[in-house]
Order: sequence, then C-alpha cells, then structure tokens
Amino acid sequence: MANEQLEYFTALSNTISKGEWKSALDAMFVALRKRFVFDNLAIYRVDNEPGRNLPEVIYARAVGRGKSREADASWGENIANQVISSGRMMILSPEKPSEDRIAMPYLLGLPLDFPVAKGALVFVRFGGPPYLDEHLPMAVLGAALGARILERRQLQEQIALFEQARYRAQLQDDFIATISHDLHTPLGFIKGYATSLLRSDTVWDAATQREFLTIIDEETDHLIALIDRLLDSSRLQTGMLAMDFQPVVLDKLIRDVVQRMSSRCPDLSVSLKMGKLPAIQADNVRLGQVFENLLDNAVKYAPGSPVTIRAEARDQAIVLTFSDRGPGIPVEHLPYVFERFYRVPGQTSQRGTGLGLFICKQIVQAHHGQIAVETAPGKGTTFRIELPVSQEGKGKQP
Ligand code: ADP
Repeated sequence: MANEQLEYFTALSNTISKGEWKSALDAMFVALRKRFVFDNLAIYRVDNEPGRNLPEVIYARAVGRGKSREADASWGENIANQVISSGRMMILSPEKPSEDRIAMPYLLGLPLDFPVAKGALVFVRFGGPPYLDEHLPMAVLGAALGARILERRQLQEQIALFEQARYRAQLQDDFIATISHDLHTPLGFIKGYATSLLRSDTVWDAATQREFLTIIDEETDHLIALIDRLLDSSRLQTGMLAMDFQPVVLDKLIRDVVQRMSSRCPDLSVSLKMGKLPAIQADNVRLGQVFENLLDNAVKYAPGSPVTIRAEARDQAIVLTFSDRGPGIPVEHLPYVFERFYRVPGQTSQRGTGLGLFICKQIVQAHHGQIAVETAPGKGTTFRIELPVSQEGKGKQP
C-alpha cells in the first residue's frame, strides 16, 4: 500500500477513538468523504424490543448538495427499513429522471449491528453519480467504523449509568451508617438516663433528677428533629410536602429566626444588612426552616465566625445571602452539597445527615426560587437565595 494511502487509513481509523461520539462520527465522515462521495447521510436504529419497530434517526449529517435536509432524514427511512429487515446492503436508484437533483436521490443503505439494536447507515447522492462496485468498500468501511463509534457511545453511557448507580449505593450505605449512628446516640442517652432514674438501689437528689430529665428531654427533641427531617426530605423528594403560601415579610421572618437561633446558640453573632423588602407569597414556616438550617450549618461548620445576612430587593426578586467566615467547602464537593444525604467527608465531630441543604433547595424551588453556594477555602461560605417577588398564580403547591 502506498504511504499516502496508509496515512489516510491510519488517520481515518484514529477518528473513532477521539472525543465524544458525535464529534468522532463527524470527524470520521469528513475523512471518509475524501474518498467516497455523498451529499447526506443518516444513521437509523431500531431497538430489539417487541413493539419497537420504527427506525429512529440517531445521527444525520449533510455535507454536500441538499444541506438543508440535514434535520429531515425522512429521505432514507424507506431504504433503512428494508436494510434493517433484510440485514443486507441495498442500492436504490431514482425511478425517473428529473431536472431537480434533489428529486433524484441515489441511495446506498448498509446494515449496522449494535449489541441490543439493529441499524442502518444510509448515504444519499442527489442527482448521482450512481454507486459503482469500486465505491462500495469505502462505504462498508465507513459503516464498520461508525458501528464501532456507536458501540463506544453505548459503553460510555453504560459506564455513566454504572457510576451513578455505584454513587447512589455508596450514598445509601453511608446514609444507613450515619442514620443508625444518629438514631443510636440520642437513644443511648435516653435509655441510660432513664434506667439510672429507675434504679431502685439509688436515690437521686432533685437537682440530679432534673439534670437527667433535661438530657432525656433534649435528646428526645433531637430524635424528633431528625425523624422530621427524614420525613420532610422524603415528602419533598416525592412532591408530597404541601406549602401554605401567605404574604410574608421576609425581614421580620429573618429577625425571628435569628432571635430563636441566638437564644439556642449564645455564641452566634449575626449582623443583618437588610433594605426595605416587599412582602412575598411564601410559606412562613418552611422558609424559616431554610434560614434556620443555614444558620445552624454556620454554627456547626464555621464555629465562632460571625454571620452576615444581607437581603435586598432587586428587579422582580429578593436576593438573600448568608455569609460566614469559616473554613469554606472544598471545591470538589461543591457540586454535591445540595444532594440528598451528601456530607463533605471527614466531619466526624459534627452531627448531621446531609439532608439540611437538600431540604433548603427543595423548599426554595417550591417557592420558584434558586439557591446557590459560593465558597473559597479559608475565606468562608456564602449561600445565596433568590426568591421571585411576583408570585401570581403560584399560591398553590407547585
Ligand atoms: P449536614 O449538616 O447534615 O451534614 P447539610 O445538607 O446541611 O447536611 O450540609 C451538607 C454539607 O455541606 C455538610 O456536611 C458540610 O460539609 C457542608 N456545609 C454546609 N454548610 C456549610 C458551611 N457554612 N461551611 C462549611 N461547610 C458547610
């Protein structure tokens, strides 16, 4: 084989392994067209499933005359059907001559074998020239390379699905471990102190009894909060958490939440920077839950850091930011923090379930708003919430 030919075939075969499947097909057909003339081509596919027998166009490309036909690959449907059912190469020439080249398609269909599907690659030359025997090996090569690229696509999709499934399984394992631990810890306290109080061989003085009962009371609250979060998160996940939309003045709600949190966490220092805010349609209790959760996270993950809450009306939205000056969230974990059960690994010292931010996001979305996080390691974390002011027609559960 001449050097030039060898180089051509090497370059052609290299196209199949480069980049994402569509760009690999583009590159391969551009290279193929240097040796095999065609105007348009389309790849059709039929899944090997009962009831699915209409070929679907999974790739189409127009390179020559009749370019505008790229989106509409119906010109090849008929031959694709015949090639798929016979499993054989087929050539169809125009029945009658015409002045209009587009009305004179010369079609070549080649079968493609996919692992769980059948397919056809169809080339068209508008107005000729006809396909001669010496043209066919290049077309067959194009079909073989195309099938390899599509196989790679399927493999890539399967790997992505597998990765997702593996990640979910990992999350579930982590979740079961975390939840078992989180349920166990308060139950252990409750059981221990209740058993101590019930001991018939010991008499506890009133102060000790009160201390033990306070612990039991607090740990029970903790358990109830944990179970509520689990229930909320699963209701939000399935869209079953009803929202009660009323006119809400956000600055008042924020002040109430800050006051509640400050009495619970005396070390928390919050500075409020709020302009004049219009009332919005919102669920007071659920939005309060979002703000409380963000402050609670600041207490847990940015201990000792002051928190600044800003709220301002901008265009048709209210923009709220909650900023702390804690250690921040490592950048590689940022895309996942709003996912259900996601926790940044290695936080053994803090109780948590990875449900808080998931719940925040679902509640904000139920208000047709958005929540995002910005962070720089060592510089702190800012959660930004945008809530639309005009909620006409959105007073019901979305
Ligand atoms: P949980 O607090 O139960 O772990 P969240 O969904 O509330 O779950 O938070 C998810 C993760 O995001 C936390 O595990 C934590 O690592 C990180 N995170 C949340 N808020 C902050 C913050 N203010 N500073 C640093 N990390 C944070």
